[in-house]
Amino acid sequence: MPATPSRIDAARLKDEFLDLVCIASPTKHEGAVARRLEAILTGMGGRVEVDDAGERVGSDTGNVLARFEGSAPGAEPFLLSGHMDTVGPAGAIHPVVEGDIVRTDGTSVLGGDDKAGVVAILEAIRVLRERKIPHGDLEVVLTISEESGLRGAKHFDGSRLRARRGLVLDVDGVCELIVRAPAANHVIATIYGLAAHAGICPEEGLSALQMAAEAIAGMKLGRVDEETTANLGVVQGGLATNIVPDCVVVRGETRSLSMEKLEAQAAHMRERFEAAVAGRSVRVGDRVHHARAEVQVRRQYDALDVPEDAGIVGLVRSAAAGIGRGCRLRATGGASDANVFAGRGFEIANLGCGMREIHTVNEWVDLKDLVLTADLLLEVVRLHAASSERGH
Ligand SMILES: [Zn+2]
Repeated sequence: MPATPSRIDAARLKDEFLDLVCIASPTKHEGAVARRLEAILTGMGGRVEVDDAGERVGSDTGNVLARFEGSAPGAEPFLLSGHMDTVGPAGAIHPVVEGDIVRTDGTSVLGGDDKAGVVAILEAIRVLRERKIPHGDLEVVLTISEESGLRGAKHFDGSRLRARRGLVLDVDGVCELIVRAPAANHVIATIYGLAAHAGICPEEGLSALQMAAEAIAGMKLGRVDEETTANLGVVQGGLATNIVPDCVVVRGETRSLSMEKLEAQAAHMRERFEAAVAGRSVRVGDRVHHARAEVQVRRQYDALDVPEDAGIVGLVRSAAAGIGRGCRLRATGGASDANVFAGRGFEIANLGCGMREIHTVNEWVDLKDLVLTADLLLEVVRLHAASSERGH
């Protein structure tokens, strides 16, 4: 199928992308880019609100919600979402443009994650309105603190939205739709032993560090199976080399596309910590001290699991075909705000938006991919309106 000519203004999209990436917005410092986006969205005719999530997550702005009134009577509203924050290093960003490729100067990330998604949303809406292409109400949610545990989305009040269906644009690739992403649990273990002088009376201590090490040595970590991963990322504890450490905190996570496997892996990690302290005690004088472990397992986010026959999947596939492209469905091991929206009952998937080698200083984008993504998105919104209008 030949690709149809793009309706997107590639030069405008490029300028906007460069403008936005140059406004550094590491997590918790999204304020400057949020104010810029607020001005852009208002200028486009959107009604913009900023919520109070910033106060709750320690950021200098809240999530931005912009509503655009539809032009297709009876069409159902549609949600479009991306995130404003980036990982570091992102102190100052100096993009280097070589033809259609935009990369960094090697000292920072580019922030195409997720400004590539954000500009695709902005440009698609602009063209829809300029060309008077019928669309339903559009709700644009630009979140904060996505990169630190999806915290902006978690603090966004989903009941403020009328849309029940939509897309998050926050993953590498182009014309690719993420329909499965894992759920995750935090696993935090605190191991309690007993302090003692390491040289004078080590036999009167219980090393929390050694017990933690034994637990970890017997633990399945890394890639557990095709659908499941586990990692311990932080170990904290101990005071000095001459003190038997009485407390160690180990923080980790497990993720899986399967809820059953997620719970099984979390239980395994818990059991390893508990087994390492079981029966460990020391008598000091007339007192017996027992080692113990406190293990907390908490759901970090829910899984994204969109059935292949879901409306949103058919919509994106039809839209891709409509612009002469295919659309590949895939799973990923990373989470996005789509996990949070899905957990609240939204029919949502994560659309590739051209970001590459993300979370590194080698990050780059091909502007052609951004144009293609905006074009695809425009067609998604147009088709959604056309089909939901018919449905009424
Ligand atoms: Zn992202």
